This record gives sequence, C-alpha cells and structure tokens, in this order.
Amino acid sequence: MSTAETEPRPAAQPQDPQLEVLTARDVPLGGPRAMTVRRTLPHRSRRMIGAWCFVDHYGPDDVARTGGMDVAPHPHTGLQTVSWLFTGEIEHRDSLGVHAFVRPGELNLMTSGHGICHSEVSTPATTVLHGVQLWVALPDEHRHTARDFHHHTPRPVPLDGGEARVFLGTLAGDTSPVPTFTPLLGAELTLHPHATVTLALDPAFEHGVLVDHGDLRLAGTALHPADLGYLAPGPTTLTLTNTGDTEARLILLGGTPFEEEIVMWWNFIGRSNDDITQARSDWMHANRFGEVKGYPGDRLPAPELPGIPLKPRGRAR
Ligand code: MN
Repeated sequence: MSTAETEPRPAAQPQDPQLEVLTARDVPLGGPRAMTVRRTLPHRSRRMIGAWCFVDHYGPDDVARTGGMDVAPHPHTGLQTVSWLFTGEIEHRDSLGVHAFVRPGELNLMTSGHGICHSEVSTPATTVLHGVQLWVALPDEHRHTARDFHHHTPRPVPLDGGEARVFLGTLAGDTSPVPTFTPLLGAELTLHPHATVTLALDPAFEHGVLVDHGDLRLAGTALHPADLGYLAPGPTTLTLTNTGDTEARLILLGGTPFEEEIVMWWNFIGRSNDDITQARSDWMHANRFGEVKGYPGDRLPAPELPGIPLKPRGRAR
C-alpha cells in the first residue's frame, strides 16, 4: 500500500446499529501517470466481507487526462480477481494463456490458485474508464488450486424499481453459473429515480453495498458515492432507496464470514510470513507464476518486504 494514500473522511453515524459505513481512501496505482482508485477494503475497521478482501472503485476517468490503466505483468497467489466495468474496455493477458477483453456488464474472474501472473491495459478505444477491481480470498483447502479463468455475461434481471446483474451467487431469482470456493454474492444494481427496492437476503451472509453514483439510502442511512455500507449477518431483507432524480448504481457484495486469518501483502495472500516471503522470492527468482505473452514492456518487480514479519489477521480488524 502506498504512502500517498489520503485519509478517508469521517463516516456518518448510521441509524441502524447493524450498519457500518466504510469510507474510501484514494490510492494511486503504479505507473508513470498513476491512475487513482478509491479503496474501501481492506479498511482500518473491517478487512473482509465474506471472502471479498479487496475493493477498488475507479472513474469515471477521462483516459486522455489520467493515462488510463496500464498494469504490467504481476503475480497473484491465494486469491481470485474480479474485473467489472461500467464504461471502457481492458485488455487482459495471463500466464494461463488467456487473452480477454473486459467489457461493461461482463464478469471476468481469474483464479490465481498457487500462482498466476497477468497484465491489464485499457484499450486505445477507451476514452472513459469506470469500474471496480475486487479480490476474493481462497480458503486454505483450495488456495493452491490450479490457475483458472471464467467469463460470464449476466442477463439483466428486472426488479420492482430497478435492475440487477448477478455476476456471482444468487439474487432476485438469478444464479450465476460461475463456481465459487466459498458462498459468495456479487451483483450490479441500478435503481430508478425515487425507487425503493427490497431484496431477499441469505441471513447467513454479511453484505456490502458499494455506491457508484446516486443518492442512495441503505436501511435508512445515506451512503455517498464510493462509500461501502456494511451489513452484519442476520437480516433476511435489504431495502435500498434512491432519493434522487436520476438513476443510482451500486455493487452488492456478500458472503459467509471468512473465519480464517490471512496475510495480505502486495499481490499475494498467504497464511504466514513464510508464505509471502516464498511467493516474493518465487516471483523474483523462479518460474512459479508462469509468463505473460504479448505485453509490450517489463514485468513489475516486487517491492521490498517490511523489516518486521507480516502477521496473519482476521476479518474484522
Ligand atoms: Mn492483478
């Protein structure tokens, strides 16, 4: 994580004690003309929602000004990446041999398993880039699984007051065919102006509502764009209200609480300092992560490890 991060603004106190509002901090991604993202997970007050452990929200960015996205080949272990766009197009290449284009409304899910590397570059046709980049932690028993990649275009599901696109798990009668290693939910929701939408929830799940745009209320509490509203397990329904005169859009995330402690450092997830030290060494000196073909440039070197051992941490703090 960068030293150039900004401090999040203080969150409003929710009316519902079950609800927590996580505000974003701005983080520059790597590169000469670093594009800035709004990060809400991991957060100082909450590290995970289900197995979701990383939430970056970006744009709408004028690519002519920000330079767009150009992330050189870099490794991952112990996680899955979810790329979901609202606007623009990203070219993905990985060491499984996948060459894919990430487009609005289409899920691209990459499973690192034991090790993968990939590059992500916004295409020349992209003038506005707008979307989210999410990570899912793999449970211990599957974290060394084989590299994998899934693509899915969910059908828009009409809601009374809006529309849903379910990219992982089940919501509003639609189920994504993409398998997950722990119970998960991921969906894009749009709400019509002045609409209230009530959705049935799995009460075993905790949930997060990431606001993209609009005047949104979750359980009576106002959320601002880029805020992540957290709801603890228990409720069987979720009520969202768009109080504005224009459409509102959000990403709904959910999952059963992830009870394992993990170590997250740079692009790696492990269970111990040794796991991370090994992954870093393998990226710099061995061929564990394979090779990305077709990226015009060098791969990203790993940063130096901190001088003190990394400690496993739980989901709440
Ligand atoms: Mn990546």
